[in-house]
Amino acid sequence: MKAKTNINFSRHNSISRRGFLGSFPVLLGCGFLGQPAHSTQGKVPGKEGKKIREYRTLGRTGFNVSDISLGGVELTTPALVKAALDAGINYIDTGEGYLRGQSELNIGKAIQDYDRKTIFITTKLFFRPNVTKSEIKSRTLKCLERLQTEYIDCLMIHGTPNLETLKAEGFHAAVKELKAEGKVRFCGLSNHGSQYSEEYQDMEKIMTAAARDGRFDAALFAYNFLNRDMGENILKVFKEKNIGATLMKVNPVLEHIELDEYVSEREKKGEPVSDSLRKRLALYKERVESADFFNKKYGLNGYPQMRDAAIRFVLSHPGVHTVTFSIKNFDQLESYVSLSGTRLNTVDSKALSIYETQCGEFYCRHACGKCESHCPQGVPVNTIMRFNFYFKGQGREKAAMEQYAGLKGKKADECKNCAGFCERYCPYNVPIQVLLQQAHHTLTMS
Ligand code: SF4
Ligand code: SF4
Repeated sequence: MKAKTNINFSRHNSISRRGFLGSFPVLLGCGFLGQPAHSTQGKVPGKEGKKIREYRTLGRTGFNVSDISLGGVELTTPALVKAALDAGINYIDTGEGYLRGQSELNIGKAIQDYDRKTIFITTKLFFRPNVTKSEIKSRTLKCLERLQTEYIDCLMIHGTPNLETLKAEGFHAAVKELKAEGKVRFCGLSNHGSQYSEEYQDMEKIMTAAARDGRFDAALFAYNFLNRDMGENILKVFKEKNIGATLMKVNPVLEHIELDEYVSEREKKGEPVSDSLRKRLALYKERVESADFFNKKYGLNGYPQMRDAAIRFVLSHPGVHTVTFSIKNFDQLESYVSLSGTRLNTVDSKALSIYETQCGEFYCRHACGKCESHCPQGVPVNTIMRFNFYFKGQGREKAAMEQYAGLKGKKADECKNCAGFCERYCPYNVPIQVLLQQAHHTLTMS
């Protein structure tokens, strides 16, 4: 049967719409993260459920953390935290702003039945460089109240945008006192790309500066098989300085691009479609058809294999201590925990390599932003694509739309009638102009 030409990564696809989607790399959005995001979904893992099989020392904190950890951005029930702890997860990442404090509250309720000393809890605070010591201290005390605990294992700067924030005197003075009072044990930071503040500096610069600063013990950052360089450079410096390395956004195979449909829609409306985009569509079709051979040979069923391979890729790096997932239900918990202790195998490597060739161009790298300064309108390219990832890759539709609505500055509707200046500066050849327009369409439902 002749393959169809859908370039369709949508998590909302039905099997019948897939056409050539039997080729594994294009099943990306279907399945796992396409499940409803209710925390009650799936059977609560019992005693016989999957267990964590590997623990690693979190750098100079000396704490042995599970290689798979629980991210709290969507943590809507204490039951999920308890199930994670029962499965052997002992690292929990949350933030003051996650679910407006509800994530911390749910963690607080759950941990009361467990030995606190066996759990490592990180929470994070957003602030400007001029934050005062008293503000950090009072906000931290509120985190402690919500978490119902005497101490936070690691207090992180959330989404550290620049070196000024990294060195904020108020924060460091507060951490010093909180440590002396036994309320905070370690200090850390996170970053996954710009918040689109004018002062943003890139992730590698911020992370390596933090490692060399001497006051930071652990960090959370983005690293995956399509976005290696920055992450590997950071991990090298972290190893030298013995900094705890915790990861996020390790699975980039969730770009959901209904590109051909979007292009058809534009054509129907009489809107221009560039020759270069048409050429990409044709090339993409060729690649997908050639990948089908590999798919059949190894009996791959698409997205689950790609997801697992992407996760095994980061778990195989000796400098990585734990990989944090925003786990929303029991089924997801089981799936992630089942990957504990695993390593990349030959089929994984081949699959990732084929995926990179086929689809690498369609992924706007987390924490990149290299093209942004070339946009005359000042559109925050990388930030918008991250919101798009929250929507389509993580199933966090409402949060993604709210964040986009609240974005300061220009939005991607500016891209429609632009000459695409930014695209020429993308080292990864991402067709970003059309992806931004799609993202705008998705995030505004316009
Ligand atoms: S389009 Fe390219 S250069 Fe721009 S942020 Fe994305 S990956 Fe980086
Ligand atoms: S397409 Fe044009 S308006 Fe949109 S981000 Fe690129 S340069 Fe800016």
